[in-house]
Amino acid sequence: MRKAIIHKIEIIPVMIKLHEPFVISKGALTHARNTIVKIYNADGVYGVGECCPYRSIHGETQTGTVAFAKDLATALIGADPREIHTHVALMDRMIVGNASVKCAFDMALYDLVSKVDGLPLYAFLQGDKEKIIYTDNTVSLLSKDRMVEKAIKFKEMGFPVLKIKLGERSSIKDVERMEAIRNAVGNDLPLRIDANQGWNYIEAWRALHAMKDMKIEHCEEPVQAGNTVDQARLTAISPIPIMADESVFNHKDAYKVLSQQAAHMINIKLGKSGGICNSMKVAAITQAADVYCQTGSFSESRLGITALVHFDMVWDNIIFHDLDSPLMLSEDPVIGGMTYQKDWQVTVDNTPGHGADFDPDFLKRFETYTIK
Ligand SMILES: [Mg+2]
Repeated sequence: MRKAIIHKIEIIPVMIKLHEPFVISKGALTHARNTIVKIYNADGVYGVGECCPYRSIHGETQTGTVAFAKDLATALIGADPREIHTHVALMDRMIVGNASVKCAFDMALYDLVSKVDGLPLYAFLQGDKEKIIYTDNTVSLLSKDRMVEKAIKFKEMGFPVLKIKLGERSSIKDVERMEAIRNAVGNDLPLRIDANQGWNYIEAWRALHAMKDMKIEHCEEPVQAGNTVDQARLTAISPIPIMADESVFNHKDAYKVLSQQAAHMINIKLGKSGGICNSMKVAAITQAADVYCQTGSFSESRLGITALVHFDMVWDNIIFHDLDSPLMLSEDPVIGGMTYQKDWQVTVDNTPGHGADFDPDFLKRFETYTIK
């Protein structure tokens, strides 16, 4: 039987305006500048991947992802798309880091291969279709009053949990924000917080102790990523569980952070680990360590989040889900894929592959680079 090798790869940098700027302690984002990768086999079947490079987190820009994607595409033409581990290893040999662009290729390969096999991606990965997944919604780092306003609105929209962006110094302002938000939404709505590395050890210590009775599920990345010493001493004394996000990109980071007890939980993002292949390794390490995880996103469209939902269905220790990035975009350029139910449960159907694709009319607005 003829093997359907990789025949053609398209690279498409796109831009989608956000409804309003998304603000975290590292700065504000007004547009998602995502890079799309379509990998075709010789039979004309294709898989689609997406990445959203955050320069303040990945050290990648959209221009950089396109430049490297061209090199990578050239190296993959003629290869067997099924050899995903080999292709991930090749990407790592060709360039260090650059997890974001690697994720777009990995996602397209998984989509293509599961499509060819006629299996929805969760089934290809041996996941559980019955797993129940609800998303939170995220409140940007704004003035206290504006954050309260947003929290009330999201509660009224029925979100089962809210994630609050913090990380301002001095952290006393963050404590005031959280007091006001907790008062406004009442005691029953679960809240989680994310400082995006904005505090130092002292500010984090103060904030976490001041918030200890506010019923907060966990705090993401309180101090500078890579500062394992402070992360570990904070994890040891924090009354609120600490979740590693920017400090765990891939499985090697997960092993380091867990072995040094520098977090209680880990936030897994396909765009940090370089895609599904390496995210499976992060999840396996956390499962072995009995550590709970969250799935999270950058500013991907529904396509990137669809792939993430399929991945989420594989792992019963992923119990938190931050899958709200498509809700922040001013347009939805994706056909098929994941659906938000009215109670914010997130579901996928049994379409082969991840089941999502970009609207061709949307893609026509942008330049396509084709490698054959
Ligand atoms: Mg985070």
